[in-house]
Amino acid sequence: MDLLARDRRRVWHPYAPPQAEPLFEVVAARGVRLTLADGRELVDGMSSWWAAIHGYRQPEIEKAVATQLARMPHVMFGGLTHEPAVALCERLVDWAPGEFERVFLSDSGSVAVEVAIKVALQYWLGLGQPRRNRLLTVRGGYHGDTFATMAVCDPVNGMHDFFAGSLAEHIFAERPSCRFEEPFEEAHIADVKRLLEVHATELAAVILEPVVQGAGGMWFYSPAYLKRLRELCNDAKIPLILDEIATGFGRTGEMFGSDHAGISADIMCLGKALTGGTMSLAATLVSKDICAVIGKTSPGALMHGPTFMANPLACAAARASLDLLETTPWRARVANIQSQLSTELEACRDLPGVADVRTLGAIGVVELEQPVDMARVQPAFVERGVWIRPFGRLVYTMPPFVTSPEDVTALTDAVYSVIAEVHGNRSNVSPGP
Ligand SMILES: *Cc1c(COP(=O)(O)O)cnc(C)c1O
Repeated sequence: MDLLARDRRRVWHPYAPPQAEPLFEVVAARGVRLTLADGRELVDGMSSWWAAIHGYRQPEIEKAVATQLARMPHVMFGGLTHEPAVALCERLVDWAPGEFERVFLSDSGSVAVEVAIKVALQYWLGLGQPRRNRLLTVRGGYHGDTFATMAVCDPVNGMHDFFAGSLAEHIFAERPSCRFEEPFEEAHIADVKRLLEVHATELAAVILEPVVQGAGGMWFYSPAYLKRLRELCNDAKIPLILDEIATGFGRTGEMFGSDHAGISADIMCLGKALTGGTMSLAATLVSKDICAVIGKTSPGALMHGPTFMANPLACAAARASLDLLETTPWRARVANIQSQLSTELEACRDLPGVADVRTLGAIGVVELEQPVDMARVQPAFVERGVWIRPFGRLVYTMPPFVTSPEDVTALTDAVYSVIAEVHGNRSNVSPGP
């Protein structure tokens, strides 16, 4: 049986029924190229979901992981510590905007957000206010697929229908309607203000993605909104959790999404590009004030501890990736990708069925009026030699920072032609998932 048939029999893929859609066997990845089993090479336009910012098989990261592999691939983190973890946590605290004191390392972004929520709840327990257990967030967000994180994902496209009875009920304000480049007005945040007042005694924290809402809709909103939200949280004395799992490490043109607004979080989540896409690793950074409360009150500990916490291979990969962010001109590269994406995707605006085109940093988005037909669109991208994976009504690319201008053009050409040829004249296709 060939691999695809074996896969269809035994394997689940993200958000996909086993028989649903075309599937491609990938056998190698290097630089910005994925090699398929049939020998075709694809320019990667996804960075494996925000992660592979330096491209694949980056030699420095590979060397760091190999060196660590020969020493100690993994060891439990309860009662033991190691240099790769300590050095990484120090580095993250140095880099992150704000007054963070401590870092909790975990193995995925969803868990990092779970930990952030737990920290917020423990903070209020410590302050003797256990009834503060609800979160305020904005619509259109995405924070992960586990139960606590699903409960703060957008209630419409975030699976709330399927699991309604099992999810905590949090408070949703309107999506920040003010686009990244638009002037912010107080009216844009009025709903948040109102909800902060209505739920003043039950809120544990505010959580959102800074400046870019990722998987919840690829929406870019004004940094001034975020700045104002920081003030509102300060006034209400409610911790602000910034989920920088997608925005962290340069993707939006600044090191962190919150840098656009010059603000910092009380609790910050990192993941995805943390290891340059090599290993699974995530981090939750916690402010001095919150650490102090958790440390001084019963149980005195943060009640969490994944088996593979602080995996040394992942920590080594992360340090090598941070080194690369120090030594490579990522800022100029991201700026170049941004200007190229915004120029070259502009043509899509005139295509039938296109609702919006937007770019920020190394992220380019074409929003359609109807969901894409994945069964046709996915092979069409592969035929054009690129790996772009749309979802819903969004065709988008977020290439590795090291992508050459020619390869960026290959991506934008493919986006244009696939939308024009496959999507533009769709007849009786069924809407995608
Ligand atoms: C991807 C993502 C997560 C979840 O991370 P996983 O590693 O997939 O669990 C959480 N928040 C944001 C903003 C993300 O983009």
